[in-house]
Amino acid sequence: MEKKTHHLTRGRYLTGRRCKKRLWLECHRPDLAAEGGDAPAALAAKLKDGRRVGVLARGMFPGGVLVSPDLSFGQALAATSRLLPTAEVLYEPAFSAGGLLTRSDILVRIKGGDGFKLVEVKLGAGLKDRYIEEVAYQALVLRLCGVNFRRVSLVHLNREYLHRGDQYDLDELFTEIDLTAKGEFILPAVRAETVRQLDVLRREASPEVAFGEQCPECPFASHCNAAVEVETVSYPIGELPHLSPKKRQIYLKRGLKSILDITEEVAGELTPFQKRAWAACRSGEIVVDRALLKVELDRLAFPIHFLDFESYSPALPLAGGRPWGQVPFQWSDHILQQDETLEHHEFLADGERDPLGEFARNLLLALGEAGSIVVYNKSFEISVMKELAHLFPARRDGLEQAIRRVVDLLEIMRKTVAHRDFHGSYSLKKVLPAMVGREYADLGIQHGRAASGGYFELMDEDTSPERKAEIRSALLAYCGRDTEAMLFLCRKLADLAGIALGRRREI
Ligand code: SF4
Repeated sequence: MEKKTHHLTRGRYLTGRRCKKRLWLECHRPDLAAEGGDAPAALAAKLKDGRRVGVLARGMFPGGVLVSPDLSFGQALAATSRLLPTAEVLYEPAFSAGGLLTRSDILVRIKGGDGFKLVEVKLGAGLKDRYIEEVAYQALVLRLCGVNFRRVSLVHLNREYLHRGDQYDLDELFTEIDLTAKGEFILPAVRAETVRQLDVLRREASPEVAFGEQCPECPFASHCNAAVEVETVSYPIGELPHLSPKKRQIYLKRGLKSILDITEEVAGELTPFQKRAWAACRSGEIVVDRALLKVELDRLAFPIHFLDFESYSPALPLAGGRPWGQVPFQWSDHILQQDETLEHHEFLADGERDPLGEFARNLLLALGEAGSIVVYNKSFEISVMKELAHLFPARRDGLEQAIRRVVDLLEIMRKTVAHRDFHGSYSLKKVLPAMVGREYADLGIQHGRAASGGYFELMDEDTSPERKAEIRSALLAYCGRDTEAMLFLCRKLADLAGIALGRRREI
């Protein structure tokens, strides 16, 4: 059988810069990648949102000819060579040379001179080192193809741009940075790196790369971990909270594969937070600081609101927002009265209109003016309420008052409790099963990223009404589970502290 040749693309080049083993695995053994991330429909809806940015950016260089993204790469190459001699502006031209492929964003003929300017459009809201490398990679391919380009630039979203609600002002929405000198400077290093990466792709077996800082969120992490037999031990050392990858490597080299391998002497090196996790692993029991927990819970005032928001981040801002700003679309509020009666209020935007006004109005009605507002990781809920206060001055007082009532359950958990089944994480999804034996596994949406992907799908005009109804019910169940989870957790904590939430307590 003929051996498949793997080419280098811009995306693969960046992967290879991070880890050559991952580059090899992505091309030769994609089957070893863990499944995860967004559902395909949600991902497609998100990509559609991102593509709108690319299309808008073309407006800064009008009158161009598009090399259709629907063409195969070979067809796009042929179309590019046909158009290049006469085109003033080309959108998405294709180039290939020496095993390197690229689809550029925009190529502009320089007025009054010879040659082109290469323009790379990024969804990000600022200049990053990897963007310079991407630009240099493309410059390299164009140079190898003999294209006479003189300048390269980067167009990215301007995070400071405030959308007033009419048409986007392209000059304000985007920032263009000339990267000709920076790209030229790193071109030799990029060229050398492509040679190394092409060599890796030609190999029969993946290169050896030690598990390290480059690994978080890698889809091959399970495969690599299994290879070093780290995950096979109970309570692997990596589950020690706040353990840096560097320290993890040091412990592994010292033979400490499991938290249970840490001796009293080594425990002296741990932070108090890590020490509590270590003690919980050794004892198999919940480790709790009862006195501090009681102090924390005594601060709660009735009615206690257990509140959670869901949001999504569109690249292009809604009216009153900025690029990549958080747009809240859903909240859930479980309210515990002192007599232990429970109410539940919730809001989910319809996906057709700007949700912010309704979100804020309904939220303030549910929160009222009394009682603690318990959230899990307060920075997010507080930042959303601050942004709403800024957008809707008439609701500023109510929102600022609500912010003053916020109590962070995550902070209380971190300060007072440890359990070995948290497995190094204090996320609600980890602590809930360990503390109260409940889970998220029965839900259609089980984490915040899926909720945001679901909302993208809900907004997509191509989503069927049946699917929209399914997503709505999954979103409501998910957000409601989060606030119910906080209520259960608080009850459990009150048990551990030897107090009751409600009835026996005074406000
Ligand atoms: S888990 Fe780490 S070492 Fe393995 S492929 Fe991914 S990044 Fe590379």
